[in-house]
This record gives sequence, C-alpha cells and structure tokens, in this order.
Amino acid sequence: MRVDTQVGIVGAGPAGLLLSHLLHLSGIESVVLELRSRDYCERRVRAGVLEQGTVDLLTECGVGDRMRREGLVHRGIELRFGGRGHRIDFPTLTGGRAITVYGQQEVVKDLIAARLAAGGRIMFEADDVSVHDIQTDRPHVRFLHGGEPMELQCRLLAGCDGFHGVCREAIPAEALSIYERVYPFAWFGVLAQTPPPSAELIYAAHERGFALYSMRSPEISRLYLQVAPDEEAVNWPDTRIWRELHRRLGEEAGERLKEGTILEKGVTGMRSFIAEPMQYGRLYLAGDAAHIVPPTGAKGLNLAVADVGVLARAMAKYFKSGGEDLLRAYSATCLRRVWRAEHFSWWMTSMLHRFPAHDGFQHRLQRSELEYVIGSRAAATSLAENYVGLPFDW
Ligand SMILES: Cc1cc2nc3c(=O)[nH]c(=O)nc-3n(C[C@H](O)[C@H](O)[C@H](O)COP(=O)(O)OP(=O)(O)OC[C@H]3O[C@@H](n4cnc5c(N)ncnc54)[C@H](O)[C@@H]3O)c2cc1C
Repeated sequence: MRVDTQVGIVGAGPAGLLLSHLLHLSGIESVVLELRSRDYCERRVRAGVLEQGTVDLLTECGVGDRMRREGLVHRGIELRFGGRGHRIDFPTLTGGRAITVYGQQEVVKDLIAARLAAGGRIMFEADDVSVHDIQTDRPHVRFLHGGEPMELQCRLLAGCDGFHGVCREAIPAEALSIYERVYPFAWFGVLAQTPPPSAELIYAAHERGFALYSMRSPEISRLYLQVAPDEEAVNWPDTRIWRELHRRLGEEAGERLKEGTILEKGVTGMRSFIAEPMQYGRLYLAGDAAHIVPPTGAKGLNLAVADVGVLARAMAKYFKSGGEDLLRAYSATCLRRVWRAEHFSWWMTSMLHRFPAHDGFQHRLQRSELEYVIGSRAAATSLAENYVGLPFDW
C-alpha cells in the first residue's frame, strides 16, 4: 500500500513528534513512522532537564500545559566535592533564567496526545524501515506495518530515529564527517521511590567516581553512579546501590537520602558524537540521529528540540514559497549550537568524573577547576548560562 504526504518523519521520539506538531501548526502534513509501540515510547525513561528555551517553545506551540503544572522549576544546582556542597544560582548569573525538571516520557506523552487529537498520523510498530531516493525530489520510505509492505512517498524526509536508527546509515559514508569520543566509564541509572535528598540536582565529584542526584517528582528520585563501561546492572543489588550513593553524596547530605523501592536500573554508555553535515539531498537529520552528548550537561533532549525548531521553520518556508535558503542553512545553523553543547557536555564530564588513566596531577587539575567554578563569578556564569541553555537564535 502507498501513503503520500509532504514530510515523512522516521522516529517518534521528542524530535520526530515535535517536528510533526510544528509542521501541523504551519499547515503542513506529515506522517511519523515509529519502530516501537505507543506504550513503549510513553514509558521510556531518559532525560528530564528542560532548558528555558525548550520550555518556552513547548509552551508557545500549545503542548506545555501539563509541563507548567507538573514540572519542577529549578533555580540552581549543587556541586559537591571535598565533602561540601556549593550552590550555583541560575537566575542571579543568567538574568533570571532557570530549568524545569519534567521527564522526557511526559513530553512524549503530551506530544503524542496533541498529534492524535489533531488527526495526525503516527504509525507505531513500523518494521524494516528503509529510506530510498533521498537525493531526488521524491524520496520515499519502505516499511512493514502489521506484516503488510508499505511505501511512504514524500517531498522532504526527516531522520529523527535516534543514534541507532537507519536514516544516518542511508547517507553515503564519504558524504559525512564523523567526530567521536567514547568515555572510559558509563552511568548506572536508578529510578527509586524515594524523595530526592535535595530540592535541586546534586552533581557529586568523588574519588570513588561521579554521582548525580536528580528527581522526576517530589516522591521519585533519578540517581546515577559512574561505573565501568562494561558494568552490568545484575552486579548491583539494592544494598550495594544505596551504600555507594551514601558514600559519594557524603555524610551530611547522605543522611537525607532515604532508601526506597528501586523501580528501574540500567547502564548507559557515555559518548560524544557528531555527524556533519546534518543533511543529504532531501534527508534532514535531527536530534540523536545526528549527534550524541554525554548526559552530564543535560543537553541531548534540548538539542533535539532546538534542531526541529530550526527545521520546521525551514520546511514551512519551502512549502509556502519554494524558498530553499533556510533548508540549505539548516545544518550550519544547528551545528553552531550543537558544538557549543558538545563542548559544555565534554567539559562537565571531564571536570566531574574519575578517569581510570588519570594520575595525581590530573586529579589536582580537576579540583582546581571545581574551586574556580565555585569561587569566580565569571566561571560560575559560564557554567550557568550553558546549563540553562543559550537562546535558540544563539
Ligand atoms: C538510556 C538513556 C538515558 C538518557 N538520559 C539523558 C539525560 O539524563 N539527560 C539528557 O539530556 N539526555 C539523556 N539522554 C539523551 C536523550 O534522551 C536524547 O538526546 C533524546 O531522546 C533525543 O531525542 P530524539 O527524538 O532525537 O531521539 P530518540 O528519543 O532516541 O527517538 C528516536 C525514535 O526513533 C525510533 N526508531 C529508532 N530506529 C527506528 C527505525 N529503524 N524505524 C523507525 N523508528 C525508529 C526509536 O524507537 C525512538 O522512538 C539519554 C539517552 C538514553 C539512551
């Protein structure tokens, strides 16, 4: 069976869903193809920190009501090292900006609901997706739906299918430049039914390794421990997790961490990755399909949102007037912001983690950098303005 639309979108993560919604607001039709079920997409726990610009965009485009009600506005973070906590105050350092803690799965739920309410088409459980003729004006996607072979014909194609998707792979290797760093550690993430030990996120640099204390709600904590890259969750019974979290959080704050039921565990590798350019022919890559950051800077989801904000404007101009200048500029426009976020995420990761190959000299450099960030207004401002996110037109 053949389906025709203006924009074919592969992937119903935050990038694909928001793009489809923004295009709809401009009167442009799209079809989203998603490998997984709706239930799976709505339960996938990942990011949770929304920059001010992400909150503003979701609000402006009408999908921010629940986020405004249920999201937790945070005006700072704590950096812990040497047994003490040091607060970085965002509004003071950034002219009033802040972040909002609201789970990525909630953003996905809100976007799916908005698309379906508007009659949008999301085809879940699309198998064997492959993209074709991306260099021509009639790109198309072949896939199986309910076992039936299908073809999606479109004018423009958006690859929003994440790091392991098929779209980036469809671009000839010689047309892409890949920049990559794989870090010698991973994050062991835990979702626990316990109030977070602090009202704001705590980034702890400890000689046993980094730890992050964050939250999804006043009752649910999201906790991370730096572990070896090949670590497996089965090696971490609950008692070991709590012991290690208490140690890395330090005595005074550790006492506030209550040991609740652990709901979910998982290990995530740490990588920086950029594929340039983010476009080939009529295929435009957005979000994790084009770039990955280590989660230390909380930038992955925010970059995906920023990409599709730019892409939706460019596609709208193309369909309204035939103007291709914004589409041609898409990759360069996004990459300026992507590289800033890549640098920030790499810098936060390098400052806060214990690297296996580091010696005393490097440990002292890390400590010096942390002292500088908490001691100098200029250094604290640099962290704060990157963390809350640079303006979308930066
Ligand atoms: C385990 C984990 C934890 C993370 N934690 C954080 C965090 O704490 N903070 C942070 O900022 N970022 C975090 N990230 C990164 C953040 O979640 C991503 O940057 C964000 O999801 C990017 O959105 P996206 O829409 O580009 O990609 P995705 O959310 O990956 O969406 C891609 C979609 O495409 C679908 N898909 C894949 N292949 C195909 C195919 N062949 N055909 C059809 N559909 C396909 C996928 O099922 C998925 O629904 C984490 C990522 C992971 C994997």
